Amino acid sequence: MLTLEKYSVGVGDRFAHQAKAQLRAFELAAAAGVSVVPVWNKSHREHTFTGSHPQSVWDAAQAAVQALSWPGGWHVDADHIRMETVDRFLPCSDFFTIDVAECIGKPAPAADVAAFVARHPELIGKVLVAGIGAPLEIPRAQVERVAGKYLLAVQEAGRIYRHIAAKKGAGHVIAEVSMDETDDPQTPPELLIILAALADEEVRLQTIAPKFTGRFNKGVDYVGDAAQFEREFNDDLAVIAHAVARYGLPGNLKLSVHSGSDKFTLYPIIRRALRSTGAGVHLKTAGTTWLEELIGLAEAGGDGLALAKEIYAGALDHQEELCAPYASVIDIDPTRLPTTAEVGRWTGEEFAHALRHVPSHPQFNPSVRQLLHVAFKLAARAGTRYTDLLKASENTVARNVTENLFARHLHPLFIAP
Ligand SMILES: [Zn+2]
Repeated sequence: MLTLEKYSVGVGDRFAHQAKAQLRAFELAAAAGVSVVPVWNKSHREHTFTGSHPQSVWDAAQAAVQALSWPGGWHVDADHIRMETVDRFLPCSDFFTIDVAECIGKPAPAADVAAFVARHPELIGKVLVAGIGAPLEIPRAQVERVAGKYLLAVQEAGRIYRHIAAKKGAGHVIAEVSMDETDDPQTPPELLIILAALADEEVRLQTIAPKFTGRFNKGVDYVGDAAQFEREFNDDLAVIAHAVARYGLPGNLKLSVHSGSDKFTLYPIIRRALRSTGAGVHLKTAGTTWLEELIGLAEAGGDGLALAKEIYAGALDHQEELCAPYASVIDIDPTRLPTTAEVGRWTGEEFAHALRHVPSHPQFNPSVRQLLHVAFKLAARAGTRYTDLLKASENTVARNVTENLFARHLHPLFIAP
């Protein structure tokens, strides 16, 4: 049975050049005494934008694992797949993020809802969950409402899971169910009802990605009520432990946080929760590694800096088109975007400071960072000119990639005292 390890972090590597530099960050965590497993993720959408094939992610990961003789686990995540997009990922992924957000809210047949409610009297009324102070109060009408909203999505998760398991063998699949790309966060009682339904559907999920309260914009920090997130996160951990025991879900089932990267405010909260409960976590970052590539190219100067500036100029020109697919997960303040001429005068250091996510740095500019984050298409369009420069500046780029992942993510999440 392929089992996802207790701590895992999803990393993106859009141009398949940084797997080794990313893996070094996991080596540093291991050297600090914490075993964290890398999961390389790339979605169908990203493959479409960069013109790559899922096999390239597996190949790059495997090459890095061999080059560093990495003794630990590692996985490749078919990120946010649906029935229409999963097949290309089957031969070269062992982790599948089954995205059923599209089905949330589409009403399930009344008979299915009635059967679910009849099967689960234990979900109605006061539900005692160890680790949550007061019992959850779930009126029958709420169970009916939640079942009506999510059953179809759960059934779809079952359909996709069985499709993957039939092709690969259930013992060779790590399944995640993701419900994060939707409008409303799921409350702990909703999560409990959803998990009961997934157990009924016999989905052997090892991680679940709910939508949490607050905004998880790409590449920048959390925006929202951190205290409320902390309550929710801890209650979700308790609900998962309860559901594992009550419904026979896999014992290693854990939360997956689709962070959009760089949720620095939340890392100490998550770290405390993991330590106090002994729970594991999967934290998925977005493809911000490519921003470290840009930072490295800028620092390298010369042609690298020139291309970084060109990409910024192109991003400014094509802002609307680049931002459209990500409208719900970016908040760019156009008045904070410098002109092409201004950026043209920047030194490599200034470019790096504007882009590198060090919130306390006076030159850090979250609008520049978010705009460039969605501009990876332009680097893809530059083709070998971009990737040749990555190779030419490999050391500078790799140093930034490793340091970002270790110092700003793995350390505050798992290692800090
Ligand atoms: Zn997600």
